Amino acid sequence: MPAIVTQGIVLRHADYRDHDRMLTLLSPQYGRVEALCRGCKRPQSPLLACSEYFSFGEYVLYTGKGRMTVTSCNLTESFYPLRQDYDRLQYAAYLLSLAEAAAQPGERAVELFTLLIRTLMRLCYGERDVKAVSAAFLLHFAAISGYRPRLSHCVKCGKRMGDEEIRLMDIEEGGLICQGCYAPLTPVKPLTAQNVHWMRSVLEQGIDKTDQPDIAAPGLLLADYVESRMEKSIRHKGLF
Ligand SMILES: [Zn+2]
Repeated sequence: MPAIVTQGIVLRHADYRDHDRMLTLLSPQYGRVEALCRGCKRPQSPLLACSEYFSFGEYVLYTGKGRMTVTSCNLTESFYPLRQDYDRLQYAAYLLSLAEAAAQPGERAVELFTLLIRTLMRLCYGERDVKAVSAAFLLHFAAISGYRPRLSHCVKCGKRMGDEEIRLMDIEEGGLICQGCYAPLTPVKPLTAQNVHWMRSVLEQGIDKTDQPDIAAPGLLLADYVESRMEKSIRHKGLF
């Protein structure tokens, strides 16, 4: 098979032999890709910069003997400032883990890729609260994964929910639940009308344009919701 050229971002790397790394890339066309990066740990290697966490660029990959090998890369962005700010780095690393858990080999991931790059740009260079930026990622992540939360009506009976009735989100059904439909074993998390206004606004307008305050972003709720739907546990303790 000839070489393929794809945009990619490094989600993970693992040491391999003395000077090599195995990269886990997210590619918009090919989803999650494992690719060997030969010699990238040598100080003078032209592949050094594109084999770090968060490295984003155009990768040329060659397939042979059943595996992908990085032959060259044109680096677009290293997100270097993330490494100098431990707080931002923790959130960014959490988002990489989510992307890695969601992406499948050989499956297009255009929306996830775009969401990840835009969110990392905001975390790296933006002024907004990192928790709110990360919560917005989780919300859009849920939407593109097929479980956009329902935020106007009760998920069980379909009743329209006024602000004064908003108390609980049904994590399994993925939306608001009214008092009448709530039963003791229903898997719910508490939330406020402000949380719901924030989520509606961010889904419609995006985090850059919303007029809702960052403090209303329900980060922990969204992290619990997304991980519950993915049936994966990713460390987010203390982040939200
Ligand atoms: Zn109901």
